[in-house]
Amino acid sequence: MGHAPFSLPKGRLEEGFEDKRPRYSDGEAVTEANRCIYCVDAPCINACPTSIDIPTFIHKIATGNVKGAARTIFDANLLGQSCARVCPVEVLCVGDCVYNHWGREPIQIGRLQRYATERALELDRDLIKKNKRATKSGKKVACIGSGPASLAAAGYLSLMGHEAVVFEKRAVPGGLNTTGIAPYKMDAQGSVDELNWILELGDIEVRTGVEITASDDGDGQVSAATLLQDFDAVFVGIGLGADSALELPDEAGAGVYGAVELIEQLKLDPQASLQGVTRAVVVGGGNTAIDIAHELAILGVPEVYMAYRRGFERLSAYDHEIEWGRTDGVRVRVNAVPTGYQRNPDGSLKGIVLADAEDGKAKAGTDKLMECQLVAVAIGQARLTGLAKVFAGVELDAKGRIVVDDATCRTGHAQVFAGGDCVNGGKEVVNAVEHGKRAARAMDAMFSK
Ligand SMILES: Cc1cc2nc3c(=O)[nH]c(=O)nc-3n(C[C@H](O)[C@H](O)[C@H](O)COP(=O)(O)OP(=O)(O)OC[C@H]3O[C@@H](n4cnc5c(N)ncnc54)[C@H](O)[C@@H]3O)c2cc1C
Ligand code: SF4
Repeated sequence: MGHAPFSLPKGRLEEGFEDKRPRYSDGEAVTEANRCIYCVDAPCINACPTSIDIPTFIHKIATGNVKGAARTIFDANLLGQSCARVCPVEVLCVGDCVYNHWGREPIQIGRLQRYATERALELDRDLIKKNKRATKSGKKVACIGSGPASLAAAGYLSLMGHEAVVFEKRAVPGGLNTTGIAPYKMDAQGSVDELNWILELGDIEVRTGVEITASDDGDGQVSAATLLQDFDAVFVGIGLGADSALELPDEAGAGVYGAVELIEQLKLDPQASLQGVTRAVVVGGGNTAIDIAHELAILGVPEVYMAYRRGFERLSAYDHEIEWGRTDGVRVRVNAVPTGYQRNPDGSLKGIVLADAEDGKAKAGTDKLMECQLVAVAIGQARLTGLAKVFAGVELDAKGRIVVDDATCRTGHAQVFAGGDCVNGGKEVVNAVEHGKRAARAMDAMFSK
C-alpha cells in the first residue's frame, strides 16, 4: 500500500510566521540535557499522558545517542515531533520537573524532544520502520478521521504488521493538528510532514474527501455498516463538531466567525485576508480564544480584545498562553458579556454589543457597542454524536462523549474502538495519541488470539 506524500497550497498567511521556539543546535541540546539529574520515579514521566521515558531519552542526548533518544520517544509517542512543539509542557512534563521546586529553570523537555526527533530523522528517516514486525497479519483496520488519534492508531498498527485505511472527510488530512494549531507553535506543513513520515511506515492508506456516515454509501460517503463488513476492526477518531454560536440576533453574516472555522481559514486558505480589520473581538476565555486572539495580533490586527464573561481567575486558558498573547498585544476584557450585534445598512459588521457582567450574567442597562470588523466566537464545539450511535453497543455519556474502556479504548461493540477528543471531550494532541496507541495495542492483542 504505497502512498504519495500530501502537500498544501502555497501562499498561506501562516507561512510568514516566525518559529518562536526554534530547534536547539547539537551543542545547546547536549548542554541542556546535561542539566537533567535523571530522577528515580521521575515526575516528568508521570505528567506525560503518553508516559515517555523522559530521563532516558535526555540521557541518550547527553551521550550523543540522538537516534536512541528518538526511538525512546517514538516507542511511547509516534507523534513525538508535533507533540514536542504543541504540547502545553508548562502544565505537563516541564511543569512537574523537580527543578521548579528549587526555584530554578526547569529542563526544557519539549525543546529537547524536538531536537531528538527531528535530528534523528535527518540522520535516518527509516529509524522506526526498521523495527516493523516482519510477519503480516492480514488484518485490516478502518480509522475514521485523520487526526492525531487515528494517525497514532494507524502508525502503531502498521508497526505491528497490520493494515490501516484512514478515512477523512476533509480535503486535507491531519485533523486539528493541521487545521487548528496556532501557527506560531507549528504550521500546517509541520503536521503534514509528520503525517507523510507516518505513511512511509507502509500499509497505511489515507482516503481524503470520504465521510463515514450513519447510513448512506453515497458519493464521497461510506457507511458505518460497510466498514464493519469490510474491516476486522474500526477506530473512531472523529474529534469534535462545529463551533458553538452565541445564538444572538444578527450573528449570521459577514464578519462573525466560529473561532475554529476562522483558524482553519487563516491557516489553509490562500485567499484568506484580514485587510480592513482594525479591531477584532474574540468571545471566550479558553485556549481556543487566546489562540485566535494571539494569532490575529501577530497577523497585524491593530486592536485585538478577548471578551470574557467572568473574572480573570476563571479564565480557563493556560496562564502562560495568556501572558504570551498579552506580550504580543492581546487585551483581555473580563466581566464582559455579549448581548447582541449591530450591522451597517450594507450588512457588514458594525460591532458587538457588550454588557458588564456579574457572575457571568449581563447587568441590565450596561449594554455598549464595541465597534469592530471581526468577531470570533470561541465558546466551545459541538459533539458529533450521530455516527457513534449507529454502531450497536457503542454508548455515549451525558456530555455526548463516546464511552470506552480506559485501558484498551474499546467501546461497547467488540470490533469498535475510539479515542481522542470524541472520547475525552477535547483535550490535547498528546491525549489523542495515547488513545490511538492503547487502541492499536488492544487490537493487536485481539488479532493474535
Ligand atoms: C483551535 C485549537 C487549537 C489547539 N491547540 C492545541 C495545542 O496547541 N496543543 C495541543 O496539544 N492541542 C491543541 N488542541 C487540541 C488538539 O488539536 C486536539 O485535542 C486533537 O487534535 C484531537 O485529535 P483527534 O484525532 O481526536 O481529533 P481531530 O484532530 O479533531 O481529528 C478528527 C478528524 O476526523 C474527521 N472526521 C470527523 N467526522 C468524520 C467522518 N464522519 N468521516 C470522516 N472523517 C471525519 C475530521 O474532519 C478531523 O479531521 C487545539 C484544538 C483547537 C480547537
Ligand atoms: S523531573 Fe526534570 S530533572 Fe528529573 S528526570 Fe525529569 S526532566 Fe530530568
